[in-house]
Amino acid sequence: MPTDADLVILGGGCAGLGLAFNLSPYGARAPRTLILEQRDAYRNDRTWCFWGDDATPFSQLAGRQWRHLRIAGDGRRIDFDCGNTPYRMLAADAYYAHTLQAISANPQLSLCLGHSVLSEPEYVGGVWRIETNQGSISAGSLVDTRPVQTPVTDKPLLWQSFCGHEIETAEAVFDPSIADLMDFSEVCESSIVFIYVLPVSETRALVEYTVFAASPLHARDLQQGLHAAIEQRTRGSTYTTLRSEYGCIPMGGDAVQSALTDSPRSQVRVGLSAGAARPATGYAFQRLQRWGAKCAQAMVMNGAPVPQSPDRLMTRTMDRLFLQVLRAQPALAPALFTAMFAGVDSRRLIRFLSDTGSLRDHAAVITALPAGPFLRHLFAGRAPA
Ligand SMILES: Cc1cc2nc3c(=O)[nH]c(=O)nc-3n(C[C@H](O)[C@H](O)[C@H](O)COP(=O)(O)OP(=O)(O)OC[C@H]3O[C@@H](n4cnc5c(N)ncnc54)[C@H](O)[C@@H]3O)c2cc1C
Repeated sequence: MPTDADLVILGGGCAGLGLAFNLSPYGARAPRTLILEQRDAYRNDRTWCFWGDDATPFSQLAGRQWRHLRIAGDGRRIDFDCGNTPYRMLAADAYYAHTLQAISANPQLSLCLGHSVLSEPEYVGGVWRIETNQGSISAGSLVDTRPVQTPVTDKPLLWQSFCGHEIETAEAVFDPSIADLMDFSEVCESSIVFIYVLPVSETRALVEYTVFAASPLHARDLQQGLHAAIEQRTRGSTYTTLRSEYGCIPMGGDAVQSALTDSPRSQVRVGLSAGAARPATGYAFQRLQRWGAKCAQAMVMNGAPVPQSPDRLMTRTMDRLFLQVLRAQPALAPALFTAMFAGVDSRRLIRFLSDTGSLRDHAAVITALPAGPFLRHLFAGRAPA
């Protein structure tokens, strides 16, 4: 049966645009693709940070990078030297402009802005039918990146909720040579709270207030903490807020793809709500780019999309145990994170955190962490329900 497209991508955000970007170089071999995006226009709605050398996809597009990161907590301040693989900050507007340019260069790919998907797509007679506010669209394959209310991951172990302002101060108050990855100076017994500061210049920074907790938090729940963090960091200087961002990321949960096992091979759900983020960190950008490259290749070779690959068993097991201990004993978070950043060689730790760690990298992380809390948790069998 003729269809409007070989492939329809629902949602043109990080994952959807990343897939289309990776399809673009295939030229006429790329499937006829429609990207349905509910927004009418893109705006600079977030920043993506990741560790990367010059060869890492999108590294060159990152507007700012840091070779030193600070982790403060448990009475210690760790200067984490990541000189070989700097911590890079990519503004969303740069990502959107770059991917949109690649998409427009291939006539096989079309971005449909202002197209809101209204319901769950239906699969009838080997064809997907998608209802949008602009009418019905049919396709052979479907990649769904829309956020869903209930994440596909089974119950997350923790939620990472954060709210940030990018601010400009009247006086020079920031040191742009070092970013604060995690500052646990605000002590909180019942949840894990830290401040994240990315100083772009002496007068400009993204300041974020982050909470890891058993339940997701709304932006309004984070405002007071964010305001206090900004007051402390700006040291009385007046400031203006240039931009704000909020996120709530599910961390952990085993059955990333379990809800999809009954889906036809021509459908893939991907993105944050399908478990895109690394469980123990909430980072998803690089993982989505790796998936985009793999999925584009599969579409061109076999005509069917592929889901994100699950993490290796060892990584999954470590992340799960780490999150279980954090959830059971949030007050331990500063000691565990500082031990990890102080005790593991930076190249090893970055590989581990960026999903490219070897067995020895995993072993180095295990060795750096205090064994007591993990052993006690394992022997007490205190896995949350
Ligand atoms: C503020 C913020 C900061 C983050 N920072 C980092 C970071 O520094 N590093 C990192 O690795 N990860 C980060 N993440 C996590 C992750 O990388 C991002 O959330 C990423 O954008 C997830 O990609 P996605 O495609 O799943 O979702 P999105 O990028 O949100 O894309 C989903 C798209 O679907 C569209 N859509 C939704 N519903 C419909 C519908 N019904 N019809 C049509 N379109 C629809 C949306 O408009 C959107 O464009 C951050 C997340 C947030 C929220």
